[in-house]
Amino acid sequence: MTPAADPAVATHLAEVQQRIRAAESRFGREPGSVALLAVSKRQSAGAIRAAQAAGQLAFGENYLQEALAKMADLADLPLEWHFIGEIQSNKTRQIAAHFRWVHGLADAHHAERLSRQRPPGLPPLKACLQINVSGEATKNGVPPEAATALLAACRQLPGLEVVGLMAMPAPAVGEAAQRQPFLALRQLRDRLASPDCPLRELSMGMSDDLEAAIAEGATLVRIGTAIFGARA
Ligand SMILES: *Cc1c(COP(=O)(O)O)cnc(C)c1O
Repeated sequence: MTPAADPAVATHLAEVQQRIRAAESRFGREPGSVALLAVSKRQSAGAIRAAQAAGQLAFGENYLQEALAKMADLADLPLEWHFIGEIQSNKTRQIAAHFRWVHGLADAHHAERLSRQRPPGLPPLKACLQINVSGEATKNGVPPEAATALLAACRQLPGLEVVGLMAMPAPAVGEAAQRQPFLALRQLRDRLASPDCPLRELSMGMSDDLEAAIAEGATLVRIGTAIFGARA
């Protein structure tokens, strides 16, 4: 066990919650309709413990081995773990076993492995399809024109529930420029959604652009630096 340290985490967490609530209000979103995922990659188990003590339950991790070590350290806490890193074939078994969500699903082969490897006792793994909406910061994600085929390949798989779309646009300056790729993701979602696959979740928005993402319909923002400070 690591000690719950750093009272700054609780302060920063409250500030981020306040930013989310303010953006919901400013953009006419339902109060409480935007969930906060605390991105804890390269942060200590102690920092996660501090955030949990302040009420945060959902945490996002990018690196499998690092995440598994922290999960073991924090096994006494009722946390919800989201894998937000790049999925690799040799990692799918442990991702399927240890996480509740994956955000970066961009490959039908990975989806098939996650489906097959999801342990039978667990609820379906929630998945967001990662879309490269416009000049993404990383090369991850499928281009919008490939989304229909990817969704068709993923949605019939047992053990996997496609709940929405995810994007990680290149950093942009100013709210208008930031909103553009988020709008594109929402419009793509609206085109792909159907009554039996409503794709309710839009995983978009980070520390520097969460307001723009909420303006365009984010249901989950992924926030690291603004909660935990700079990464090691
Ligand atoms: C690191 C990371 C974040 C958090 O970024 P911050 O700028 O620290 O808020 C969000 N999403 C993904 C996929 C990340 O890798």
